[in-house]
Amino acid sequence: MENKTRNGDVPQPIRNDGAGWWDLGPRDVMRDLENPDMLVPPVTDAGSLPNLKFSFSDTHMQLNHGGWSREVTVRQLPIATTIAGVNMALTPGGVRELHWHQQAEWAIMLVGRARITSVDQQGRNFIADVGIGDLWYFPPGIPHSIQGLEEGCEFLLVFPDGSFSDLNTLAISDWFAHTPKDVLTVNFGVPPSAFAHIPNHQLYIFQSNVPGPLESQQVPDPYGLVPKTFTHRLLAQEPIVTPGGSTVRIVDSANFPISTQIAASLLEIKPGAMREMHWHPNQDEWQYYISGTARMTVMAPNGTARTFDYRAGDVGYVPRAFGHYIQNTGNQSVWALEMFASDRFEDISLNQWMALTPHQLVQQNLNVGPELMNVLRKEKQFIVQSTIG
Ligand code: MN
Ligand code: MN
Repeated sequence: MENKTRNGDVPQPIRNDGAGWWDLGPRDVMRDLENPDMLVPPVTDAGSLPNLKFSFSDTHMQLNHGGWSREVTVRQLPIATTIAGVNMALTPGGVRELHWHQQAEWAIMLVGRARITSVDQQGRNFIADVGIGDLWYFPPGIPHSIQGLEEGCEFLLVFPDGSFSDLNTLAISDWFAHTPKDVLTVNFGVPPSAFAHIPNHQLYIFQSNVPGPLESQQVPDPYGLVPKTFTHRLLAQEPIVTPGGSTVRIVDSANFPISTQIAASLLEIKPGAMREMHWHPNQDEWQYYISGTARMTVMAPNGTARTFDYRAGDVGYVPRAFGHYIQNTGNQSVWALEMFASDRFEDISLNQWMALTPHQLVQQNLNVGPELMNVLRKEKQFIVQSTIG
């Protein structure tokens, strides 16, 4: 009953035009404050679109000695069939154990540093350290591990399969625990006593010691290194800088050749700026918000449209070819990832499309005048800065 008040500090479902009325009943004011465009949808919203937002803060935390993980998959966000995401942290020395899975793994380091290891199908290894803004990519079925370095780390893992779960992978501890000891004896040519103390369950994440310098852990490999690097320094990549100073870094198989199943763009949308109205012809978009607050309207067929608000730690989703924008609604930069289960990043800019179409046709279609037609841009904007208002 505490909210049964017409307190002006509490947001109410009343639009500027007077539509709506006070919410005097049970409600979660903190969530209403985080979702102003759901409490008071823009008058342009129409019809029903499924949920396109899920926060990692609403997921189950898997806590282990050595770190934690949580995930947004098709189980949390049913429309997100093409991509699953896992947010993971490792302590200094904490290890995501030696494991593999059917899906490719794409990752970006968000905080701290880690050491990754892998060996490919031709016995070529890859052992490297990754820091903030670095990516890694393990092809499907290729075994790997991740270990936190001195300062620990937090990262985002992305898999091109919405039904993936990181709690459902193939682990080296499981294989040892679930193989008859006499088979292990034959396989390795050592007596059963060598396996007396192996774990009897999957470790998943475990605490170990911070490893020594990278050079001290390199394993000489008679077959050489993997021919295509498994890491990419995305934040160090020269960005596309837009007129307002916002930046875009696109990464796919064109500049990170091993990454044939995931494409991404890392956006920095400055205050007052907006990822321009656009769509992606080739794949659904899975978004991850790293910082700031933003809103997005998704326009679906037949004039259906719904607006959502996003903040750091949220996942957003846009079905293939549905129109959308991402507008910075705060006073700090929005950093966000657009992710696609594809070998290529592709987008269509509304502005560019109109600029490169016979102007008479566009004018007749929209009943607009030269005021708009004269400012259309033949080059893609990616992110536009608000100059009016
Ligand atoms: Mn993995
Ligand atoms: Mn997009």
